Amino acid sequence: MAQVVGPAKGPVTGFCVKCRTKRELKSSEEVVLKNGRRAIRGACSVCGTMVYVFMGSRKKG
Ligand SMILES: [Zn+2]
Repeated sequence: MAQVVGPAKGPVTGFCVKCRTKRELKSSEEVVLKNGRRAIRGACSVCGTMVYVFMGSRKKG
C-alpha cells in the first residue's frame, strides 16, 4: 500500500497505459511506496485509469 504524503503541486502529466499516451492526471496526490520510492498517483483525465508517475530520488525544491 502506498502512503499518501499530500496533494501533488500543480498539474501532473503521466503516461496512461490504456490511452497509450501522456495524459493530464486528476485528483493527483504524492505517495511513498513500500520500497521508499516517491511517486505521483492520479487518475487519467480521459479514461480514469490510475496512473503512477515515478519521481527521482532527488527532491527538487
Ligand atoms: Zn487514459
